[in-house]
Amino acid sequence: MTDSHIETIRNLAYLLASVLFIFGLKGLTHPRTAVRGMQMGALGMFVAVLATVVAGGILSWTWVVAGLLIGSIVGVLMAIKIPLTDIPQMVALFNGFGGAASFLVAGSELVLRIGAGSSGADTPGTSQAVAGAVIPIQSLIAISASGMIGSLTLLGSLIAAGKLHEVSFSWGGKKVWMSNALLLPGRHAITGICFAACLIVCALIVMNPSTSAWYWVLVALAAVFGILITIPIGGADMPVVIALLNSYSGLAACATGFVINNTVLIIAGALVGASGLILTNIMCKAMNRSLTNVMFAKLGQGGDGGPSADDVYEGKVKTTSAEEVAMLFDGARRVVIVPGYGMAVSQAQHAVRDLANLLESRGVEVEFAIHPVAGRMPGHMNVLLAEADIPYDKLKEMDEINPTLETIDVALVVGANDVVNPVARTDPSSPIAGMPIIDVDKCRTVVVIKRSLSPGFAGIPNPLFAADNTLMLFNDGKKAFLELTAAVKES
Ligand code: NDP
Repeated sequence: MTDSHIETIRNLAYLLASVLFIFGLKGLTHPRTAVRGMQMGALGMFVAVLATVVAGGILSWTWVVAGLLIGSIVGVLMAIKIPLTDIPQMVALFNGFGGAASFLVAGSELVLRIGAGSSGADTPGTSQAVAGAVIPIQSLIAISASGMIGSLTLLGSLIAAGKLHEVSFSWGGKKVWMSNALLLPGRHAITGICFAACLIVCALIVMNPSTSAWYWVLVALAAVFGILITIPIGGADMPVVIALLNSYSGLAACATGFVINNTVLIIAGALVGASGLILTNIMCKAMNRSLTNVMFAKLGQGGDGGPSADDVYEGKVKTTSAEEVAMLFDGARRVVIVPGYGMAVSQAQHAVRDLANLLESRGVEVEFAIHPVAGRMPGHMNVLLAEADIPYDKLKEMDEINPTLETIDVALVVGANDVVNPVARTDPSSPIAGMPIIDVDKCRTVVVIKRSLSPGFAGIPNPLFAADNTLMLFNDGKKAFLELTAAVKES
């Protein structure tokens, strides 16, 4: 086979991979087609990698098969070992690794081209002199972009994963939760200086491409910048950052595609970058915030500010039992179930479906109120409820359900906390200030199912738990729903 035949086959494979990516993304827009979408995306990536390493003569089949085996074993082990509740952290790490792969490939390409230049080797289609050979200016710009965005994505994603894992550490004798916004004094100035330094080093790389030293300085500076822009974010703003880092990992891959002149990497990177930006926009809208407000606004310090849990709850919390709640259902016409992160932790979705079906069989209208940032990743609740075969038309988005909540007889809040916290409406200094919530406090009776009065991700008390129309059913989410179903059957 001639070189031009190989080139044609590779380009056709890249075209096929790109089409699979696009249809894969389309599939991911609906829970019913999401699994097929995932499979198409994975197949596209397989075709792209195979076409690159085999047609390019980079690796022999032995190495390809060995890589496939190792990758499949690692993938299967991760799928089995990592609990569903830790998937968001894993996604954050994947974003970070994507960024790392991009800046390492771009860096090694720079080192190779400088090596080719100093040994006098000819690099085709070049325009700028480097010790005897040349690197095109557009490649140098792409290398700088990849180094900067890739590195900030890696460190930003590591911090985001720590926040999602709710890691804590001691600082000056105090316990600090990474999930809270960590606000350094003078952070805007420090971040601005770091960003300016990154841009100056990018310019130095473009002007002085005879050494790769500036590239690694850029990688180090961008890593610090990634940390600086992620640590001040906490509470309800985390979903925006996750979506943004996802987009950055795509942009870094896209820039690396330009560096190594690989069309499928450019297309895949652009698709990830664009879809991440769309998701960022959706998350910002869902929280009624602008991106600049999320990134630069001075928010409260998570659980450190505002009233204490004792002030909010002392002597005001009323508890209930499964039997009492079953009696409430007797007189109810409309029930709304509001799921949150705790439903994912307790894997209660099937038990929730069973109770919903039982109530419906007794003539009660049951709906699900879905907050866009409930859980720990965009679409988290939709995925869990779809897995339990809850019909999609039963899931009501926040804007649709909120105006009708005053007519709801019983609201069952299962493992949701921040997304039903009325403080978002009333306290402008709170870490969730301005975030629209599901207004369950307006329902006639609210039953909150959780294990204790512990706060949610934002680390703040929730006055809903002490409201006159609220009853607390302290239990694990799944156990509570199993007991409720049994109690309704007996009533
Ligand atoms: P929260 O994190 O506010 O609250 C979850 C509640 O679940 C906790 O108060 C906990 O209380 C309870 N819980 C935990 N385990 C169980 C269990 N086994 N059974 C019953 N309850 C349990 O969740 P929300 O969904 O209300 O809010 C999501 C938060 O996460 C928001 O602040 C959002 O901004 C943030 N976030 C969202 C992301 C996204 O993309 N969706 C990404 C990153 C952050 P207890 O321990 O007492 O049981």
